[in-house]
Amino acid sequence: MLTLVPTPIGNLGDITFRALEALKECEVLLCEDTRVAKKLLTLLSDRYSLDFGQKRFVALHEHNQKEFLGRIDPSFFDRAVVYMSDAGMPGISDPGAMLVRYAQERGIEYDVLPGPSAAITAYAASGFLETDFCFFGFLPPKEQARLQTLGQILAHSSNTIFYEAPHRLLKTLQAIVQLDPKRILFLAKELTKVHQKYYKGEAQELLERLQKEPIKGEWVVVVRKGEGRKASVELGIEELMGLPLPKKELAKLLSKADGRPVKEWYELLTKD
Ligand code: SAM
Repeated sequence: MLTLVPTPIGNLGDITFRALEALKECEVLLCEDTRVAKKLLTLLSDRYSLDFGQKRFVALHEHNQKEFLGRIDPSFFDRAVVYMSDAGMPGISDPGAMLVRYAQERGIEYDVLPGPSAAITAYAASGFLETDFCFFGFLPPKEQARLQTLGQILAHSSNTIFYEAPHRLLKTLQAIVQLDPKRILFLAKELTKVHQKYYKGEAQELLERLQKEPIKGEWVVVVRKGEGRKASVELGIEELMGLPLPKKELAKLLSKADGRPVKEWYELLTKD
C-alpha cells in the first residue's frame, strides 16, 4: 500500500491526524529529501510526544524517480510505504505524480491524504469570487519562455495561480506591469508562517510597494483574469438602416442611435 502524505508548508500545526497515523504506521518512508523528512519527524515527535519507531528512509526525487521506479519490484509496496515531499502536497510542483502513475499501472493500492498546499491556500485567501482557476506551477526559468507563459497567463479566461521564487518576483512583476499595469494581483508571502503577508492590488502599485520591502521568503502569485476587450463597432445611420432586422427592432436601434422616437423611426421604415 502506498500513501502520499502532505506535510506542513510552514506551520507544524497543519499536520493532520491521518498524516501522523500514516507516518507512524509506515515501514518505508520514501521522501524527496531524507534530511528534511527526518527533521520533520523529530519536530513532530517533540511537539506531539510521538514515537515514530524505526523507519527505512529512501530518497525519491525529481532526479532519481525514473531510475528508482524502473528498478524496484511492485512487491516493494506489499508493506506500508509513505511518500512525502519536502513540504505541502506531493505531486503539486513536487515529485509524486510518477509514483501515482506507477501504482495505477501495476494495480498497486494507493491513497492520497488531503492536506496543506500553498496554491489552494493562496487562492482561498485571494478573495477572488470566481470558482474556476488555473494553476501553472513554476514559470519556466528561461527568459523567453517565461515571458511567453506570462502572456498566456494574462490572456487566460480564468484566474491563474503560480509559484514564484523570491529572487525572480520583482522581475516577474515588472513584466506583468509592462503587459498590463492595472491587472489585479493577489500575492501571498510565507503562508502559515510568522511573517505571512497578503498583498492585493494593481500590478503597478504592488511593484512599487514591494520594491521597498524585503522579498525573502516563499511566494504564491494569483493573477485576476483580464476584463476582456469589449467589442465596439461604430455604425452610421445608413449602415444601421441596412441591417437585416425586423422593422420594429431596427426602429428601436435607430432611436437609440440618434434619439428620435421609436415611433417616428418605425413610420419612416414602413413608409413605401
Ligand atoms: N507541493 C507544494 C504545495 O503543495 O504547495 C509546493 C512545492 S513547490 C517546490 C514550492 C513553492 O511553493 C515555493 O517556491 C512557493 O512558491 C510555494 N510555497 C510553498 N510553501 C509556501 C508558503 N508557506 N507560502 C507561500 N508560498 C509557498
